[in-house]
Amino acid sequence: MGGKVLVINAGSSSMKWSLFSKNDFSIVASGIAERVGIEGSFLKINFEGSEIKKEIKLNDHKAAAIETLKLWQKHKIVKKINEVELIGFRVVHGGEYFNDSIKIDSKVIELIGECSKFAPLHNPGALQAINAMLDILPNAKMSATFDTAFHTTIPSINSQYGINREFAQKWGIKKYGMHGISHKFITLKLQEILNKNSVNFVNLHIGNGASLCAVKDSKSFDTSMGFTPLAGIMMGTRSGDIDPAIHEYATEVAGMSLKEFTNLLNKNSGLLGVSGISSDMRDLVKRYKENDENAIFTLNLYAQKIVDYLANYINKVGKKIDALVFTAGIGENSSFIRELVIEKLDLPNLNIELDQNKNNISPSEIKDYLLISSNNSQIPVYVIRTNEELLIAQDAVKLYE
Ligand code: ADP
Repeated sequence: MGGKVLVINAGSSSMKWSLFSKNDFSIVASGIAERVGIEGSFLKINFEGSEIKKEIKLNDHKAAAIETLKLWQKHKIVKKINEVELIGFRVVHGGEYFNDSIKIDSKVIELIGECSKFAPLHNPGALQAINAMLDILPNAKMSATFDTAFHTTIPSINSQYGINREFAQKWGIKKYGMHGISHKFITLKLQEILNKNSVNFVNLHIGNGASLCAVKDSKSFDTSMGFTPLAGIMMGTRSGDIDPAIHEYATEVAGMSLKEFTNLLNKNSGLLGVSGISSDMRDLVKRYKENDENAIFTLNLYAQKIVDYLANYINKVGKKIDALVFTAGIGENSSFIRELVIEKLDLPNLNIELDQNKNNISPSEIKDYLLISSNNSQIPVYVIRTNEELLIAQDAVKLYE
């Protein structure tokens, strides 16, 4: 068996992984350790079309990694653990330190730790996973790929907020953006599809978390998430942009603690909080089609928030715009939402139109990408499947070539 590349995406209580063959980047297996450090932890592995599940006590990320590797050997996913030549870690926040993927060393570890203040729910999990793998597989070559890196090209005219500059600079308050790994993956894929070295487009990454990115000359020029992933469009459970003074009203008048209100914005707003029905788009589209007024309002609000950014970003990308791209769970799978969004766009002198037949092609028939706009559309519209893990694996290999 040849060399393998392991990609790890660790959260505070979970560790998701994908194992790639180094030769051709085909997936060997993938899986997750869930409820790490919490009662009821378990491992799940997808291998050769079947699912292996094991309930087991996992005190920390190291235990999760050790037990996962044992399971690999038991099920002959690898012959020997040292087949894992490279490990690429997804790290949410790289602050201003990292504008690309990087080989991991002690300095990189220290800086990832420093950025934990910006992503207290995410960076510590990544660090725990990195330290665990350094202990378990000290000979593997390790790299970090950051969600923020792609957005380090955003000019300050787009990344700076209109708040006191001295305060903002002292505390590092600016737009960092998220989903950069996906926005970069789509940028490279669009270059390939259009056979161009440099592309200009708006990427709509709409999954449970969601962000738009205006890409100019293949670089991030603006994005809808901000200092945190709470900003921008409305999401599955996150509110997106709101008036910042509502915080004070929520605490002073509505009697919530700041933590409770922040929690409401993160966990009980968006599709879930507005509809009171579900955060899952499939449930809401079903209710919409049954004429449920609540679902109709929620999805129209959702689409409007997207369109507000989309129109702005089409303008930002400017006349050289090559395409609009829909990606991630909703973008790739919901023809209904794509149609609702494009329908609401009404830009003077610019006709953007979907081909209904193409837009309605079943997601299972979309392999890598599909052009869904009509011949009359002045900007082509694509669905492109994102693959963040693949980009992390490819970057790991590239760094050590
Ligand atoms: P995450 O941000 O957690 O990675 P995903 O990109 O996996 O999220 O997207 C999850 C969202 O995609 C959910 O709202 C889910 O309902 C939606 N989704 C997945 N499949 C479909 C589908 N066939 N039709 C509509 N929505 C879908």
